[in-house]
Amino acid sequence: MRILVCNDDGINAPGLLALAHELCSFGQVTIAAPDVERSAASNSLTLAHPLRVREVSFPAPVERAYAISGTPADCAKIALSTLLPEKPDLVVSGINCGPNMCVDIFYSGTVAAAFEGAFRGILSVSVSLDTYSSQDDFSVAACWALRCIRLLVDKKVEPARVYNVNVPCIAETEIKGIKVTRTGKIDYREEYDHRRDPYGRSYYWIKGNPEIVDNSPECDIVAVKAGYVSLTPLQPDMTDFVTYNALGAKLSNS
Ligand code: MN
Repeated sequence: MRILVCNDDGINAPGLLALAHELCSFGQVTIAAPDVERSAASNSLTLAHPLRVREVSFPAPVERAYAISGTPADCAKIALSTLLPEKPDLVVSGINCGPNMCVDIFYSGTVAAAFEGAFRGILSVSVSLDTYSSQDDFSVAACWALRCIRLLVDKKVEPARVYNVNVPCIAETEIKGIKVTRTGKIDYREEYDHRRDPYGRSYYWIKGNPEIVDNSPECDIVAVKAGYVSLTPLQPDMTDFVTYNALGAKLSNS
C-alpha cells in the first residue's frame, strides 16, 4: 500500500507525526505538508508565487517527507502529479487539531488536501481530532483512523470519495466505535470579536461559537459529542440532483 499523507497544520504538527507513525505499519508513506500552518485554506492554490519543495528528515519511518511553501491543496496536487513516482493507493490528510464537521468542511484545508486524491479517483481520508489543543494526545485518533481505513479497504468502498473521519478527544476506553454519519448543521453565533488596537482603530477577529441546530443522531457533530468516531462519505460532485431534475423539469415547461 503506497500512501500519501498531507495536512494543513504544517510539517511539524503533532497530528501529522501520530498519523504517519500509525500508517507506517500499513504501507509506504510519503509526506507532503505545508512548511507552516495553513488551516482554513480550503482548496486554494498558489498562483502568484513559486512553490518551494524541500525534502526534510521526519521522525517516523516514512519513505520521504516534503515541506512545501504552499497550501494543503498545493501539497497534495504537486505530490500526486510530480513528486511521487507513481499514483498512490491511498491519500490521508491530518490529523487536524480541531474538528472538521458540518459547514466547516468547506473551509478545511485538511479535507481539501484529501479531495485532491478523490479528484484523481484515489481512496482518500481526512482525519480530525475534536480538540483545539495541540498538547492533546493524537495517537488514539491515529489508531482509530487506521481502523477506519482498514474497514474502507476491506469493504472495497467507492474510491473517488473523501471519507471524513472525526474522532472525539476522550479516553480510548470511552470511545463507543465507528458510526457512519452525514454532515450536520450548526449556526455560528457572535462570529466576530470587535476590538480596538492601541491607536483606537477598530478591528475584527473571527471566532467560532457554533450551536448545533440539528440534533439527529446520524449527524457527524452529534455522533462525535456522543463518543463515536464519525465517518462521513463526501463526494467531489457537488451537483444537487434533486434540484437539478426539478429545475430541468421547470425550465422545460416554461
Ligand atoms: Mn488545521
